[in-house]
Amino acid sequence: MMEQMVPTHNADRDAVRNSPLFKQQALIGGRWRSAASGGTIAVDDPFTGETIGAVPDLDRQEVQGAIDAAQAAFKDWSRRPAKDRGALLRRWHELIMANREMLARIITLENGKALKEARAEIDYGAAFVEFYADEATRAFGEVIPANAPGRELRATREPVGVCVAITPWNFPNAMLTRKLAPALAAGCTMVAKPASQTPLSALALGLLAQEAGIPDGVLNVVTGKASMIGEIVTSSQTVRKISFTGSTGIGAWLMQASGPTIKRLGLELGGNAPLIIFDDADLDMAIETAMVAKFRNSGQSCIAANRIYVQAGIHDRFVEAFRTRIAAMVLGDGFDEATDIGPLIDTAAVDKVNEHLDEALKAGATLLAGGRGEGRMMPPSLIAGVRQDALLTREETFGPLAAVIRFDSYEEAICLANDTPFGLASYICSSDPRTIARATRDIESGMCGINTGLISNAAAPFGGVKQSGLGREGSHHGLEDYLNIKYLCQAGL
Ligand code: NAP
Repeated sequence: MMEQMVPTHNADRDAVRNSPLFKQQALIGGRWRSAASGGTIAVDDPFTGETIGAVPDLDRQEVQGAIDAAQAAFKDWSRRPAKDRGALLRRWHELIMANREMLARIITLENGKALKEARAEIDYGAAFVEFYADEATRAFGEVIPANAPGRELRATREPVGVCVAITPWNFPNAMLTRKLAPALAAGCTMVAKPASQTPLSALALGLLAQEAGIPDGVLNVVTGKASMIGEIVTSSQTVRKISFTGSTGIGAWLMQASGPTIKRLGLELGGNAPLIIFDDADLDMAIETAMVAKFRNSGQSCIAANRIYVQAGIHDRFVEAFRTRIAAMVLGDGFDEATDIGPLIDTAAVDKVNEHLDEALKAGATLLAGGRGEGRMMPPSLIAGVRQDALLTREETFGPLAAVIRFDSYEEAICLANDTPFGLASYICSSDPRTIARATRDIESGMCGINTGLISNAAAPFGGVKQSGLGREGSHHGLEDYLNIKYLCQAGL
């Protein structure tokens, strides 16, 4: 039985609820609004299970109002000099960093993650705003060699128009800035729909954008029933792009529903990342890679190492050192500075990890650290001797359960790693340049960490292949996703 977790940070929780950044209304056309119906959606603290606030349950007309506000703001925003848009993004970035601690605490309150992880998320999320403040001025066009005398051929880049961002609960701040920053930099306007379990981080970002001077209607934040909002935005002729981060099932539905209006789609979907540790890996580096790749955000990350393949020669040493590190991790209230692993988002998340754990153990795996979770608390756990046909090799575990599978040859490892419809991230640990070159070529994923589990940053293109999605976020590629190319052909020169 797991020890009963007692909240000892009531004052910290109250301070967040009393902060001016704790907004509980939607932002539409520069106005903070409750639902006309008075309906709300409750937001819970995953650690205590108590309701900490409520956001509007908007109706169809109100969501349409946000799309209209974004459309009304588009002309002026898209025609501003890129430098001016960049300056407003820079101001927004300054305000985010000035409020770093409270924004982190909002994440911990609504998502449960440990404060140190929440602070890291603010830094990561804010970096996109800073990066795209500069990138705004680099949406260059091209002059094309003429195909006939007296002609000039050019290609310019234009913002795609009104965009919609739909984001998940696991990184309530950063998943949004990753979309908002390039969109606004490119000259697009946005309607953001955060996850219903964690909308407060998005509303706080909206308030700071307003304070930074980003004009009314450029950024709108709506809350309400996901299926209704999904129907409106996919069928809208005004919305030109939907950028979605979330599960592959909902991503596939959005793609299908957007078909009739031929929208651009950015899809950051599920992953099932393999981590391959070869015999020649540096053991300390491999442990560090596995700790970050598996336990960052309590394993509730799309790039979490779900399957850890370890070659026979290093297997036992790796497992023992990994077990020692995992056993030292602290499970507790996210508001406690000592906590490494906070609660998972809800009890269903713990049920899923338990199911993966139980199934693997029944099939012969050995439990080396941790064990079953209870309520919302899931201890960091390690199992070895996992079979390739285990449930957790096919589905994202999305929790702090590390699963080790032994392999013998290079070919076997690559074959096992690629045996998935997903292709978001992968990780390899080796000190042999030839193995690294071969594995990075052979592995089917949009991203690959080599001797590191920490791969995400604003300057790098984040995204997947196969059923993990379309498009890239971060880097100059992330800006391209919010720009259309317009070809100009002028004669008579
Ligand atoms: P989810 O259920 O797909 O929800 C994601 C977002 O979509 C939420 O805002 C949700 O709203 C909304 N949504 C649900 N149904 C919708 C509909 N019919 N139309 C429009 N929007 C709809 O995913 P999740 O469980 O929150 O997030 C976990 C998943 O996200 C995992 O699979 C993970 O791998 C993936 N993820 C991917 C990345 C990446 O970059 N590739 C990053 C982070 C997470 P409600 O909350 O109101 O239901």
